[in-house]
Amino acid sequence: MTIDSLDVKKKEVTEEKDNSLLEFQETLKEAVDILNYPPQVFEFLKKPLRFLEVSIPVKMDNGQTEIFQGYRAQHNDAAGPTKGGIRFHPDVTPEEVKALAGWMSLKCGITNLPYGGAKGGIICDPRKMSLDELERLSRGYVRAVSQIVGPTKDIPAPDMYTNSQIMAWMLDEYDHIREFDSPSFITGKPIALGGSMGRETATSKGVLYTLQIVCEKRKLELKDTKVIIQGFGNVGSYLALYLHELGAKVIGIGDVLGGLYDENGLDIPYLLESRDSFGIVSNQFSNSISNQELLEKECDILIPAAISGVINKHNASKINCQIVIEAANGPTTKEALGILDEREILVVPDILANAGGVVVSYFEWCQNNQGYYWTEEEVDTRLKEKMTQSYANVYNTAEKYNVNMKTAAYIEGIQKLAEASRLRGWLK
Ligand code: GLU
Repeated sequence: MTIDSLDVKKKEVTEEKDNSLLEFQETLKEAVDILNYPPQVFEFLKKPLRFLEVSIPVKMDNGQTEIFQGYRAQHNDAAGPTKGGIRFHPDVTPEEVKALAGWMSLKCGITNLPYGGAKGGIICDPRKMSLDELERLSRGYVRAVSQIVGPTKDIPAPDMYTNSQIMAWMLDEYDHIREFDSPSFITGKPIALGGSMGRETATSKGVLYTLQIVCEKRKLELKDTKVIIQGFGNVGSYLALYLHELGAKVIGIGDVLGGLYDENGLDIPYLLESRDSFGIVSNQFSNSISNQELLEKECDILIPAAISGVINKHNASKINCQIVIEAANGPTTKEALGILDEREILVVPDILANAGGVVVSYFEWCQNNQGYYWTEEEVDTRLKEKMTQSYANVYNTAEKYNVNMKTAAYIEGIQKLAEASRLRGWLK
């Protein structure tokens, strides 16, 4: 099977994606109402305070110039500079980028980082571009947004289909424009350019710590659990390996083309060696299943770690697990969450579970600003502390207001934003 032929299948699971801004707004409204905030709080936070749309001309290897569409949304900068990744994906939309920026604000609020949220995106298919084309696109994006980004303004990072090499090109372009060295302009950089130990694995480690807390609370032994992870990129692959090493049975993994399933547990180290640079491995096996089938297989813990909208009204009643940990951004639609709630399946929300990435990005930024670098153990200990504290806060909020963890996470995330905006005199 080729990647092109499977784009159709991918669309099937992303069908709900364009609702992300609406879904962000609906849950935000609930949180604002529960906190008894005045209506302007919702009006102010429902959209980014700044949104830039850019056209990026890129000379392709064949000599032709192609124009790419790019976006940067800055949700709220009351509590500090904005922060968030840049994704390269054919399905990027302005609405999705706005929702993702809002979710970044909430993540920073929940984990108590001195930031507001942002997100960038470029409509492109990096799987079909050469490294030289990707470099020109990355540099072109930075030139296009350079007026509104910067180490104390808005700090980008990797997201879907972007990585430390892309961050390195972006940093280099920014340094050329500004004419000085500014490592804290971007996070998720290679270590040799001021990146942090543990940043590459931060999101998956954060998900793992969250999972360990949930297991402890539910008196589940991790090594007795069966886990399915949909997504085998940066987050899913490290997570699969950690879980495998800790003795959990990873019985299913999914990539963009399909899924692999074995009720006795998959050989994760072997699959990691076999995957390509986009995390694709399922095409090498004749017994692969579809992502939809994978999501509906029986397991204890289901971890969607790829794209948004994969658990939706079409399959929510068929999800067969006790716990869903949202490692991707927005993998469960609001409607699906209602169905899972009714079925008493615990859903640990994305803005809590996958916040490890931005937490270690913050550590990277602190190290760049200090010019003093931490060991991997130091990073790891502080990440665990942040995840544990954030989980406890969201859990207690859920108990206090008798709401699910998603609404509780919004309530937790929004408070600092609203308070910072109020103190600046922006809101009453
Ligand atoms: N892209 C990641 C996220 O969605 C990390 C963002 C960052 O490190 O700034 O949380």
